[in-house]
Amino acid sequence: MVNDREAIPRKTEAEILFNNDHTCCICREKGKDVQIHHIDENKNNNDIKNLAVLCLNCHSVVTGKRGLGRKYSYLEVKKYKVDWEYTIKKNRGRTYQHAKTTTKLEKKLFKFEIAKKIYELGALRDQDAVKIDEILEFLNLLYLFEEHYTDTIFDNLANITIVSGLGDNLKAVKIAESIPKYFYHLAGPDKVKINKKDTKRLKNAIDLLGNVGEFAAEFNKKYRPVEETIDSLSSLFDLCIWYNQKSIAMKIIKEMSKIKKNCLITFEKNEKKLYIGVRKVNKTLEKFQKDIEKEKRKWPKVIFEINKSKR
Ligand SMILES: [Zn+2]
Repeated sequence: MVNDREAIPRKTEAEILFNNDHTCCICREKGKDVQIHHIDENKNNNDIKNLAVLCLNCHSVVTGKRGLGRKYSYLEVKKYKVDWEYTIKKNRGRTYQHAKTTTKLEKKLFKFEIAKKIYELGALRDQDAVKIDEILEFLNLLYLFEEHYTDTIFDNLANITIVSGLGDNLKAVKIAESIPKYFYHLAGPDKVKINKKDTKRLKNAIDLLGNVGEFAAEFNKKYRPVEETIDSLSSLFDLCIWYNQKSIAMKIIKEMSKIKKNCLITFEKNEKKLYIGVRKVNKTLEKFQKDIEKEKRKWPKVIFEINKSKR
């Protein structure tokens, strides 16, 4: 390993290898030696969302180091990663099969359980990090077995976001981080078609993230939830590009503009710390523009909106 880069923290390394079953996310052949690849090619970005497990062979194809090998775009690699991690998670969760509900009564009970858990979540403080993780993990597991629970989950999360404003820093961060995990089944248009329910859920997710980010910027004046919100919106933007969802992409940009506006309001009140939020939005918008061009989407209105929002 070269010295001029930050080593991947051990905890992250263990987590990414576990999430991928120590197996390459592209060829998925067991027992091969694997490496950890930085999806955006920035070797210092050790965010787990930026890491993919690849075997030596696939790695050299991805990075284009093999003469005849076709180079993969970073969106393609991300797609393989998300799809593979989703498959493993779903297989591991087989023991939770009882979450698959059949009767109306069972469904009602699950909805009640979701509301109860999220109500509990609303009352938790930042020092209850373990409990916060447990609840968010439980909710995501329900989604893995039955996607339709996502609606109940998002509705209830929206309630606690509005009522309590998620005053706590860490809770807001963790909630924002969990939202893209409800779209793991969208593993690319060649595999899974997007339906009306998905697009409706995407819109709800964007509203939810928008609320978290705007509140954090204007009232809570904390950068971490703002940053996490923008990262999650950015993951949803990737989905928009894969699935050619122009109007949802537009909604994301508008939501990011609102977050930026709130960061600016706080900044102008002489709370200098949130200028970093303005920069984060602009940087992300620039990335969106590059991705649209890279994936050859013809979205002139979206590009126009991006340029408007960058100003
Ligand atoms: Zn491989």
